[in-house]
Formats: sequence, C-alpha cells, structure tokens
Amino acid sequence: THFGYREVPAEEKTALVGGVFSSVAARYDVMNDLMSLGIHRLWKRDFIANSGIRLGDQLLDLAGGTGDIARAASRRVGARGRVLLTDINEDMLRIGRARCEDEGMISNIDFALVNAEQLPFPDRSFNAVTIAFGLRNVTDQAAALAEMKRVLKPGGRALILEFSRVRIETLQKAYDRYSFSVLPLLGRLVADDADSYRYLAESIRRHPPQEELADMMQDAGLEQVRFRDLTGGIVAIHSGLRA
Ligand code: SAM
Repeated sequence: THFGYREVPAEEKTALVGGVFSSVAARYDVMNDLMSLGIHRLWKRDFIANSGIRLGDQLLDLAGGTGDIARAASRRVGARGRVLLTDINEDMLRIGRARCEDEGMISNIDFALVNAEQLPFPDRSFNAVTIAFGLRNVTDQAAALAEMKRVLKPGGRALILEFSRVRIETLQKAYDRYSFSVLPLLGRLVADDADSYRYLAESIRRHPPQEELADMMQDAGLEQVRFRDLTGGIVAIHSGLRA
C-alpha cells in the first residue's frame, strides 16, 4: 500500500486526508454504519449525553463532517443556543449541511469551512468545542488542541471522541484482524475504495493512546483532563477544561 507505515510529511498528510474524505463523502454515513455495525451511533450518543452541553450554549464542532454531533448537540443547546458545524473538507460539509436541512435542523446550526489547526474565531468564544473522529486526521494535533483551548470561554470544555487503544489482548487481536482485512474489503466492495479504508485502519493505529492524548491536552493548557474508555478502549472520550 502506498500509505505504508513511514512518516508522512505534513503537506502530504493534509492532501492525503483531503483526498480520502472527498472520495468517501457520498458514502460516508452508510460506511460508518456498516463498518462499526452501527455502534458509532451509541458512541456519539454517549459522547453528547455526557458532554455537559447545556441549553443556551454556543458550541463549536470541529471536523464535523456529515453532522451527527452537531445535530445531536443542536437539540441540547435549544433555540437560544447555537451550534457551528465546521469541517476542512467542502464535500463533507456540503453533505452535513444537506442532512441538517433534510432533518429540518438549521434554525440553530451554522456552517463554515474551517481548518481545526487555525480557528478564525476570537479568544473565549464558545462554551464547548467538540471533535469526534476528527483529531487523528488533523496534521498538527498540538496546534488544534491549543486552538480549541484558545476559543473556549473560561469554564468551557474541550471534548474529544476518538479511536484509542484497546487494552484487552484478545479484543485487540480480533480488532486488528477486523481493521486490516474486513475494513479494506468492505471499502472495496461498498465504496470501491480499499485505500481510503486502509488509511482509516492505519490512522487509528497511529493515533496516540489514552494517556498520551491526555498529556497533549495538558500541554495545550487544558485543565482537569479526564478520559473514559468505551467498548474496551476501541474508542475513548477525553475532556479538558479551560480554567
Ligand atoms: N465528526 C464527524 C463524525 O463523527 O461522523 C466526521 C468525522 S470524519 C471521520 C473526519 C473529518 O475530519 C472529515 O470530515 C475530514 O474532512 C475532517 N478533517 C480532517 N482534517 C481536518 C482539519 N485539519 N480541520 C478540520 N477538519 C478536518
């Protein structure tokens, strides 16, 4: 595979990720359901239910793609709150916007093309910033974390839902086999795009484990950093506070 395990230079990674998501955008939701056997919906539901997001909050969703997090959050912030659904990729954002329109959920959701590494917002703008299955695709993750902290209001929370490290050996083995055989096969059959789904498996494997991501959040100036494993650590939820 041309994605390999070598270190990919920064500009190359950004271009690669752009290509992957443009190529999967149209089939992204179906593939998510297929590949996770629908479990991603439970992870997202848990993420939002325990997010502390409240009525009236101003929320920024980074790497928001087709908008699952933004739509769930928009119900929680209510009519006086606001959700800004952002993504770096126009194709993903277009589908996210269309889905929000289809579901009649645009009264409190706005949309913007935004690179998580460089947020075009003033300091202290949001009560919460979310990023779900997005951080591992970002090239400069330290920059993204620092930006999340910068745009939070004091007392606001950065919330990260991301693939993480499975700590149970038998589950790890099964999961590895699944990631590197079933995933690319599904990608080829359903999306005619095995490479994109191989990228997915490899990006999950390279992503920092729970403690390391927690340290990165602390380095970015976030406080009270905590994490919680879901499904044996296949996924983890990290949160950190801007003091
Ligand atoms: N949050 C959505 C969800 O949970 O279904 C979408 C997740 S999707 C796996 C990852 C998204 O990250 C893609 O839409 C991609 O375009 C976006 N992305 C990648 N790099 C980014 C960056 N630097 N800034 C913002 N978004 C980025």
